Amino acid sequence: MTRKLYIETVGCQMNILDSELVVADLRKRGYEVVGNPAIADTILFNTCSVRAHAEDKIYSALGRLREAKQRDPSKIIGVIGCMAQNHQHAVFKRAPYVDLVVGPGQLHQIPTLIDEIVAGGGRKIEVSLDRSGGPRRDVERSFESYDPLRDETMRPSRYQAFVRIMIGCDKFCTYCIVPKVRGPEQSRPAAHIETEVRKLAEEGCREITLLGQTVNSYRHTDGGVTTRLSDLLYRLSAIEGIDRLKFVTNYPKDMTQDLLEAVRDIKECSHYLHVPCQSGSNEVLKRMKRNYTVEDYREMYARIRETVPDFAVTSDFIVGFCGETEEDFEKTMELVAESRFKNSFIFKYSPREGTKADELWPDDIPEEVKRRRNNDLLALQNQISFEDNQPFLGRAVEVLVEGPSELARKHEAQAHEVRAHGSNSSDENGEAGAGGAPNADGASNADGVPHDHVHGPLQLVGRTNCDRIVVFDGNPRQIGRILPVTIYDANSFTLFGEVVTEHVGPEVYSISL
Ligand code: SF4
Repeated sequence: MTRKLYIETVGCQMNILDSELVVADLRKRGYEVVGNPAIADTILFNTCSVRAHAEDKIYSALGRLREAKQRDPSKIIGVIGCMAQNHQHAVFKRAPYVDLVVGPGQLHQIPTLIDEIVAGGGRKIEVSLDRSGGPRRDVERSFESYDPLRDETMRPSRYQAFVRIMIGCDKFCTYCIVPKVRGPEQSRPAAHIETEVRKLAEEGCREITLLGQTVNSYRHTDGGVTTRLSDLLYRLSAIEGIDRLKFVTNYPKDMTQDLLEAVRDIKECSHYLHVPCQSGSNEVLKRMKRNYTVEDYREMYARIRETVPDFAVTSDFIVGFCGETEEDFEKTMELVAESRFKNSFIFKYSPREGTKADELWPDDIPEEVKRRRNNDLLALQNQISFEDNQPFLGRAVEVLVEGPSELARKHEAQAHEVRAHGSNSSDENGEAGAGGAPNADGASNADGVPHDHVHGPLQLVGRTNCDRIVVFDGNPRQIGRILPVTIYDANSFTLFGEVVTEHVGPEVYSISL
């Protein structure tokens, strides 16, 4: 009997990739992916532990499934990923009807564990060793993930893919749960990465984003030869069919000159770097244990500007960290104003049990102060992003077309709902699973194009080489291509344009008789 799988993914690109791999594995064993938990017999939540809010949302989602599980005890409910590793048996305590808890290092065991549960083996938990749970090599092994299985229909677009080059982190920033839930820092062998990228290129993938918590710390030694990220980029850029290479997330201290020169010289490297700073105050950076000062960050930023002046740089900031004063916050505002990042991802500090910051300092910044600082920094960044996008007006940019825009997908989902139920009411359970599966409900193909979309313009979305989002009218045949698009409007987040068309006829001939 075909089992029906619903998977919901929250969190970072690592989780999106993990979901793709879990789905590939289960599909190979005959599972069908559905976009509606109500009709699924296996429901998986791939979770994030970076903020308390993300975990709370999963517990709420689990709460909504309690009755469904009572009605149909054969439904299998699983919590996988970072929260599974972080909470372990506590998940069963808070939601006793959960069948499966699997950490990010054990995802390859999911098919077998489900089979065992179906066979009456009771609930299952598989997690990696704690960081202090044994010799480093044993802990590392318990976090090793599986990578070669891919499923293009679970990717954001079949022309783009994430490829993991590192797992884990050894930096131990005091606010961060990642070193606990993703384990020790390990770089994958370059040859394995190359094989995977080659296969993706053969499948038609044009853009690869290399993933690592501190991706620029990548370093792998094999037979006495060490490969750095810059070396890896040269190897991957030589693969036929790969037009764009990106990598996230960078650690400021490891932004070496060889890497900057490589991204300058390799034409396939996107003109985009994401380098989180987190705070503009040395006092705060010290408490965060980021291991650099604001002066170090400025020096690195100046090197980026000098080596690759036209690159877009984005950053992350945490506001309201333990003990952050108004003066500290003002320094962050100054750094953002002076750096003029293309974009910044701004987060309010959320204490995480098991981190040093939670152990050492009270979460002493009131919520309304965090909110105000968040809003002030966001307003400043949005103004900069808006100004930064204006010079694109009237210019043609090269866009890798990813698929229908969010708006086009929303319209199609509503139309599908009307066709299926004869009304446009939306059912909470009918939401498509996050993490992809654009064809899960049978309404669209692997590019996310509605099956019944035959003619007429379709609003498409793509990205420039410097990672700016561009929305324009096009047609499904343009998905996966790199097209020139002229920009006629821009806000802080998006450029709006139209495809540059060339006159291709009809030619006029005079026929002399
Ligand atoms: S570098 Fe710091 S913030 Fe980034 S994953 Fe590692 S510990 Fe977390």
